Amino acid sequence: MLDYQAILEEIYSSLKKTEDTGEVASYIPELAKIPKDKLGIHLQLITGEDYAVGDALEKFSIQSISKVFSLSKAFQLVGNKLLTRVDVEPSGNPFNHLSLLELENGIPRNPLINSGAIVVADILLSNLKNPKEDFLNFVRELAHDDSINFNVKVAESERETGFNNYAAANLLKSFGNLQNDVDDVLDFYFHQCSIMMNCKQLTNAFFVYANKGKCLKNVLHLTPSQVKRINAIMLTCGFYDEAGEFAFEVGLPGKSGVGGGIVALLPHCFTIATWAPALNPQGNSYLGMQALEQFTTKTKLSIF
Ligand code: GLU
Repeated sequence: MLDYQAILEEIYSSLKKTEDTGEVASYIPELAKIPKDKLGIHLQLITGEDYAVGDALEKFSIQSISKVFSLSKAFQLVGNKLLTRVDVEPSGNPFNHLSLLELENGIPRNPLINSGAIVVADILLSNLKNPKEDFLNFVRELAHDDSINFNVKVAESERETGFNNYAAANLLKSFGNLQNDVDDVLDFYFHQCSIMMNCKQLTNAFFVYANKGKCLKNVLHLTPSQVKRINAIMLTCGFYDEAGEFAFEVGLPGKSGVGGGIVALLPHCFTIATWAPALNPQGNSYLGMQALEQFTTKTKLSIF
């Protein structure tokens, strides 16, 4: 039996010594205020045990990790019809890239880049009665935690500087791939990205993807086929133009966010979340990537 606590502590103390860890995202001014030296890891086993080190219980802005939740909710609501509005191919491009939209007639390459997530936000807006509230409740249900909330300051900060996302949304609208108003869709999108969660809440919420659609309390939220598809999308598209590198070094489906969080999972075995706010040039947490590489190397647990 592996000593998971000792493994997490070893990883933590080796990474705490790293000097050059990258930079905290500054294009969303509220995120630039977060201290760079935070580091947390939480591991949730499918059998129920869990392990934590460092700042695993401190909440941070989940940013693009929310795209997995919005994709899941959209799958629940409209099923495979979703795939007529957004494709499932890796982009090989940064998260905020616009050029592919023009090439592909307004169909984003996948739901985990910004343009794809904006289309998914539009679908949720069209299909939920109280979109922001209903979406937040969905995330709370997955994590079994009603304390999870939006951070309106972060959402507002992103709205004020979100020129690139406005450009993507306008381009999508011009191609007829947004049904709602650009401002309403982006208001929803900025709020979903602003959700604050800690590593433990994330591993709890991601339990469904490791457990064939059933959450920690054994309630079925997604079908096994939807879970298979969402995990495949995470593996191939979860890390922007570094998805290949993550599969190569870590070997797990997962998703990162510019708030410095990463969540990954091994089906039928565990979910793991890391938080370290400084990012590498591709926009993924520098220490988070290293922590997960060390974890799958030391435990020999990966999908490969
Ligand atoms: N809200 C961020 C944006 O749209 C999300 C990016 C990310 O976390 O990768 O730019």
